[in-house]
Amino acid sequence: MLLVFILVGVVPLSFFSLVIMNTYENKAVNSRITELHSKGNSLSNLLLSTSYLTTGDIPEVDTEITRVSEFYNGRILIVNNNLKIVKDTYSLEKGKYLISEEVIKCFNGNSSKSVDNNYIKLTYPITHNSEKEVMGVIVMNFSTKDIESIRDSMEQRVVLFALTIAIIIVALAIYFSGILTKPLTNVVNSINHLSEGYLEEGVSIKGYNEIEKISDSFNHMINRMQKLESSRQEFVSNVSHELKTPITSIKVLADSLLMQEDTPVELYREFLIDITDEIERENKIINDLLSLVKLDKTAGDMNINGININDLMEQILKRLSPIAKRNNIELIYESFRSVVAEVDEVKLSLALTNLIENAIKYNVSDGWVRVSLNADHKYFFVKIADSGIGIPEEAQDYIFERFYRVDKARSRETGGTGLGLAITKNVIQMHRGAIKVYSKEGEGTTFNVRIPLNYIA
Ligand code: ADP
Repeated sequence: MLLVFILVGVVPLSFFSLVIMNTYENKAVNSRITELHSKGNSLSNLLLSTSYLTTGDIPEVDTEITRVSEFYNGRILIVNNNLKIVKDTYSLEKGKYLISEEVIKCFNGNSSKSVDNNYIKLTYPITHNSEKEVMGVIVMNFSTKDIESIRDSMEQRVVLFALTIAIIIVALAIYFSGILTKPLTNVVNSINHLSEGYLEEGVSIKGYNEIEKISDSFNHMINRMQKLESSRQEFVSNVSHELKTPITSIKVLADSLLMQEDTPVELYREFLIDITDEIERENKIINDLLSLVKLDKTAGDMNINGININDLMEQILKRLSPIAKRNNIELIYESFRSVVAEVDEVKLSLALTNLIENAIKYNVSDGWVRVSLNADHKYFFVKIADSGIGIPEEAQDYIFERFYRVDKARSRETGGTGLGLAITKNVIQMHRGAIKVYSKEGEGTTFNVRIPLNYIA
């Protein structure tokens, strides 16, 4: 950023200074040449109006020539048509002959000018405006040192000015790039801090809008991570607790058998039946956990097929009817239309089985469970209503959580693990569906399930 500031500020400044200096020099030299041409013209007129070119001795003309040469700080030679120098303001070459290329060319009508090494060299023909004949040549040799020195002093000032501006630009660049990058550095520091494991500390960064947005999104992400982390910890501790409970029971049962001497065979049998129950329970928890983990793992890996949902419902109900009979629960099924939908048959069957099994398990004696199937053009709906014990209002928000049970003792009695509804919700979400619960304690519970007919990947 600093580099960009400097490039944008300093480079154009230096470039323009250079361009300005060169333009000045060219303009100054050109205007000097124009001035000298007009002086040449007026000297030419003066010379023609007198006999100076032949006599070379008229004081007023001498004075004028000297005045011009001194004014422009140079040397003027007047050459007549015999190529003889009739005037040299340096008084060195007077009376000699000047035969140079420029002079000859000038007699032929081609005046010349050249600029080099701080000198302007001009030849100007002495001629009547109306006539072609060249009577003589004015050779002018003028220094451009004054222009150079003005350029030099200008250059000094421009360099000084450019340097000052450059210093200001660099200072501003350092200052502003500091201001602009400081919040970013803070973000980086905070992220480093977080990655060292200080998850509970969010990022609080004041800066311009975008930076604040970054820090907001970042905090949002941290919040989610914190929630995930705490739910993971809770899950792990619940799992350990749930797995330990049957083992503790088994140990207590076995210990008490070992401690007693002469234990009657009947007691052995009784305790061993209890131990087998506990092992079965442990097995069920492990199986439920495994299917939950499997669901999480294969979230993107659904085995989708067009399935007749009416048939599926009938299969499930057939499988569950012995349990319903055992508990003396009336199982009613009504289907409003034939439904074919794209679903994962095994997973959906697991989810619906859990719901209907719960409706049977958490029911009153001689109660009923009513399952109905309906559909519109987009979704199919399964409604599972029971005449059971209901779910207290404050518990309704938690029943889909892993290991949550309203009445631990009752759930245990009926072989529940607290994972059934978690599995069900997971499966329904994988089908991009929704599940809702309506319940009143002591009156009954209704679960409404809605699933799209066409699977949305
Ligand atoms: P569980 O293995 O204990 O049945 P679930 O996840 O299936 O676990 O259900 C969680 C809890 O929600 C149950 O322990 C029970 O208290 C309550 N619950 C679920 N379905 C019903 C229902 N139909 N009627 C009353 N309570 C229910």
